[in-house]
Amino acid sequence: MRNNIAALNTPRPPKLCPALHPRYNPSAMAAPAQSTTATPITIRGVGRVFPGGVEAIRNLDLDIAPGEFVAMLGPSGCGKSTLLRIIAGLDRPTAGRVEFDRNEDDAPRSAFVFQDANLLPWRTVLANVALPLELQGVEQSKRIANAKSAIDQVGLADAIDRYPAQLSGGMRMRVSLARALVTEPELLLLDEPFAALDEITRQHLDDQLRLLWSERRMTVLFVTHSIIEAAFLADRAVVLTRRPARVVIDHRLALPEQRTPALRTDPQFAHEMRVLFDALQRGERA
Ligand code: ADP
Ligand code: MG
Repeated sequence: MRNNIAALNTPRPPKLCPALHPRYNPSAMAAPAQSTTATPITIRGVGRVFPGGVEAIRNLDLDIAPGEFVAMLGPSGCGKSTLLRIIAGLDRPTAGRVEFDRNEDDAPRSAFVFQDANLLPWRTVLANVALPLELQGVEQSKRIANAKSAIDQVGLADAIDRYPAQLSGGMRMRVSLARALVTEPELLLLDEPFAALDEITRQHLDDQLRLLWSERRMTVLFVTHSIIEAAFLADRAVVLTRRPARVVIDHRLALPEQRTPALRTDPQFAHEMRVLFDALQRGERA
């Protein structure tokens, strides 16, 4: 077992799902979703104190099952990004540990999606999406084919030769998602990825991300400020206190497996949002 999120180490031919495609038909999902590779995460007693004394996280325990979609909420500055970075292996805890139930030779492939799409401005959409495969040493014709497939699935086939400056914020985020998908991650970590988008664009991307997950069943940890987004996307929501982050509630959302846009006006959805809102308020006071 080890904390290894070296997402780019183990090339495998991407097998991308069509769920992000605008013409994707949810009713075609009647067949049970394939259980694909996914990875469990075990977080035990994790703490992080930064040099200078800022304590971001204290004694945090969390288990995430393979293929779970978990939303994480908490006040601004409470340590959410720090926790995600620790899980991704981009930062180290000063106490406790994060484990993946994997062998040394079989570390999970992960992808990290940030709020800023972080695209290279001098590269086209195609070249941006192909970059992770390039870093993996995947040969050119294959990486172009796989990148085109990923771009198609996020509905950007018409923009394949455009540069980031020629894209809207929503389109840039789709490119960022395609670049994450092209590596076929078993663990997808998203840090407020849609927070800078307008509400409608954001909901549209949420709809598509949920469909994507339904098909792929990778493990997803999604950090958001938005209780609507958390309730809509996830099967389970973890609400954290203000800094240092501790768990206020670890709540399984009693909502249908298939999330349709209409769910956002459902009374049960409103109830779940209330649960999360109350927990956030408790977390602020904790
Ligand atoms: P969140 O993502 O929940 O808004 P962060 O995890 O980014 O919060 O930050 C948690 C706390 O840790 C904040 O007070 C932040 O200022 C502090 N922090 C984050 N990174 C560092 C760092 N590298 N050095 C010192 N303090 C940091
Ligand atoms: Mg953050």
